[in-house]
Amino acid sequence: MATTLTGDAPVFEGGLQTLAPGVHAWIQPNGGWGEANAGLVVGDGASAVIDTPWDQRLSRQMLDAMAVHTGNAPVRVAINTHSDGDHWWGNAELPADTTIITSKESLKAMKDEVHPKELARLRRMAGMSGRLPGRSGEMGRYVRGMLGPFDFKKIELRFPAETFEGRSTEHVGGRALDLRLVGPAHTLGDLVVHVPDAGVVFAADILFVGVTPVMWAGPAARWIAALDLLLETGATTFVPGHGPVCGPDEVRALRDYWTWLLDAVELQHRYKHSAAQATLEIIKSEEFAPYRGWLLPERMIISVTAMLQHMDGKGRIPQTAAMRAALFDQVSIVERALDEG
Ligand SMILES: [Zn+2]
Repeated sequence: MATTLTGDAPVFEGGLQTLAPGVHAWIQPNGGWGEANAGLVVGDGASAVIDTPWDQRLSRQMLDAMAVHTGNAPVRVAINTHSDGDHWWGNAELPADTTIITSKESLKAMKDEVHPKELARLRRMAGMSGRLPGRSGEMGRYVRGMLGPFDFKKIELRFPAETFEGRSTEHVGGRALDLRLVGPAHTLGDLVVHVPDAGVVFAADILFVGVTPVMWAGPAARWIAALDLLLETGATTFVPGHGPVCGPDEVRALRDYWTWLLDAVELQHRYKHSAAQATLEIIKSEEFAPYRGWLLPERMIISVTAMLQHMDGKGRIPQTAAMRAALFDQVSIVERALDEG
């Protein structure tokens, strides 16, 4: 049996899946760090791709798998849903004449995003520090596990050439794709893609299924509003950014998670607890039980950090390599605490 990119046994099916006539999802089990999903909408003589994987080799693999559908309907349009590299760093593999579109806010965030070369360096350093004892060793091993399957050295960045504000309808081969800006939530410029003629929404990282979501930007209220918007489309099929394809129940489950976590963090904030203290208390609480089974529970600390920053009026988590490294250190501390029960 094939394994996931990180060498685990897959808990759901991966690869290219048909959701409706001409609507396909590219699914990467198990939806962990960098194991992001993408999409394809095939119209009459033209197609649209939604997101590309984290490195060019994976992007090539995806486009090759899509070739059976795009032979007579070349990829004219690609949509990048947000600025995290695992949703657009594979863009350079798209045909040269493909028009890449994102939100105005995401394009700016993409330009501010940590460069692939910095991630390649972080990956190399993690490989070395992972051999050390103590805390730096733990963080090193965590980051090595997270970045290990990807090749960041050979990435040629290709930015979207077109942006939109608020809402835009793209027509591809006679089909309409409704693009809605819903960020800042997961990141600063998140958008979702609704395909009304198929009842399908590509929700990207506004939706995580069976895996702990990460809120880099926030506020949580904005993410909750985005989930309401997903439900209001009346779509029956949702493609999350990470995890298996689902229906509206999973959208509601994530809405419940944010509502619960926001309340729990507000209480911790009143006690003036640090992000680490708050996270450890929350994961020890009974109310955490429904979420304990979600993959990567330790990264809840990133969302808790973002929420506390908002509550303190300190703005958002800075988008720098140093800040990311500091957060991964915190994530590895929570992981160890979870392991120790
Ligand atoms: Zn992602």
